[in-house]
Amino acid sequence: MPDRQIYLLSPKEHSPETIAVAFAKTSRSPESFREIAAGLSDEKSAQFHEKWVVGFGHASVAEHAVLHIAFENVSRLAIESIESNRLASYTEKSTRYQKWGTDNFFIPSELDGHPLWNEFIATCRHLFQTYSDSLNPLRALVLQRAQRRENESEEALDRRVRSQYVDVCRFLLPAASLANVGMTANARVLENMIRKMLSHELVEVRRIGEEVRAVAKAEVPTLVKYADAAQYLVETKKEMGESIIGNRELDHRASDWFSLVDYDKDGEEKILAATLYRFGGMPFDEARTYVKSLDESQRAQLADALLKRLDEHDIPLRELEYATYTFDLVMDQGAYAEFKRHRMMTQTPQMLTTRLGYATPRLIEEAGFRPEYEAAMKSAAEMYEKLYAFNPQVAQYIVPNGYYRRVLAQFNLREAYHFCQLRAASNAHFSIRRIAYRIAEELNRVHPALTRFMHLPDETWQGIEEKYFTK
Ligand SMILES: Cc1cc2nc3c(=O)[nH]c(=O)nc-3n(C[C@H](O)[C@H](O)[C@H](O)COP(=O)(O)OP(=O)(O)OC[C@H]3O[C@@H](n4cnc5c(N)ncnc54)[C@H](O)[C@@H]3O)c2cc1C
Repeated sequence: MPDRQIYLLSPKEHSPETIAVAFAKTSRSPESFREIAAGLSDEKSAQFHEKWVVGFGHASVAEHAVLHIAFENVSRLAIESIESNRLASYTEKSTRYQKWGTDNFFIPSELDGHPLWNEFIATCRHLFQTYSDSLNPLRALVLQRAQRRENESEEALDRRVRSQYVDVCRFLLPAASLANVGMTANARVLENMIRKMLSHELVEVRRIGEEVRAVAKAEVPTLVKYADAAQYLVETKKEMGESIIGNRELDHRASDWFSLVDYDKDGEEKILAATLYRFGGMPFDEARTYVKSLDESQRAQLADALLKRLDEHDIPLRELEYATYTFDLVMDQGAYAEFKRHRMMTQTPQMLTTRLGYATPRLIEEAGFRPEYEAAMKSAAEMYEKLYAFNPQVAQYIVPNGYYRRVLAQFNLREAYHFCQLRAASNAHFSIRRIAYRIAEELNRVHPALTRFMHLPDETWQGIEEKYFTK
């Protein structure tokens, strides 16, 4: 019996395209990966990709070529496009742990030579100046309330409480704010990402798409060679956008900020039956009939057996994916920026707007900063309307994090466990904590047996609302 071999095909020795071919060739070659890789050159790898990946559509081969791409000084609005690719990984400059300088905003080139150019800049400056002015009074209030630890320096104390006031000041930062993000993605994801970006309505996003293509081409030339704008995306977005334009006002009448619009009524039964199926040998129908025959306490016992050993670092069994839930949510843009990072969900955000109103954190009022905050939010809304009349896409840049946004989200119970536990944790931002608790509460209402094992601290969404937001 040949010896088992497990080793690294190092990116220090081979290009990403060569690694992808070395793996792809194992499908038909009896040679070891080392031998295959040793026989490859960049040229041979390119020929292979031309034939198999591009020509015969064996596109998954491109997943073995992985790139790390750094994006600097891109708007937070454009970052939404970058981070919308489910199978990539990201780390972004945090609005919670860093402070923004007053010039750190993007000016969209759609406004070049436009009469609104000056006013856009003036409104951004107003927002950033108000953000900057808010830091000291809010910090002073948080420090006044904080208990200094023995021998704790001023600097250490500030570090410890910093997120409490920066978390609030960030409500003023608009989507034009510049940030950095690092992305790790394979060439298949990159190709799709470039196609989406080149088909985007915003010039900034299209230019970033071109730059990503140039960077990727230098490293994986064949694998992103045909990444181009997709007419399907361009035309569909255009036609759909035109067909709903008359109804847009209707869409903006928000009632409650939270609604479970749909869920699997048989979700509990399906999950329990799928678990029995996994460990048994019966057809699924039989497992389901058996679960149906159980009374409530027997079902609860089965659910206990499935979930009672979970500790907060465990991922529940995959069978929890057999129940899904759809929520129509309204959340502030700061919370959405975090929510969108959950890739195991299906999310449909609406465009950024000021028409749904904004949240006012309680700390703003308590620090006596409410008049300045409201004036800045009002100036953003006025600018938004002017920009909207010119170009609704561009208008999004001026919307601050405190304004509400609507998003449809669908996910399964496994992702719900992850989301609720991570985002209800005491170190999470209060805006997203409120959402996590309300989702958990609603899931507990519809599927109590399967949700009672979530590890959540002892808070409620109403308590968070009361503590952190003004009415
Ligand atoms: C306290 C805190 C601070 C944070 N600070 C920052 C920050 O400064 N900057 C920043 O950019 N983000 C920050 N984040 C966001 C964080 O990095 C995650 O992107 C975000 O919480 C989404 O979580 P997730 O990736 O676990 O979830 P999902 O994307 O919802 O994924 C669910 C689960 O699926 C699995 N999974 C999904 N995709 C992959 C993958 N590609 N590879 C392996 N496993 C995968 C993992 O088990 C994951 O937990 C912070 C989060 C928290 C809670």
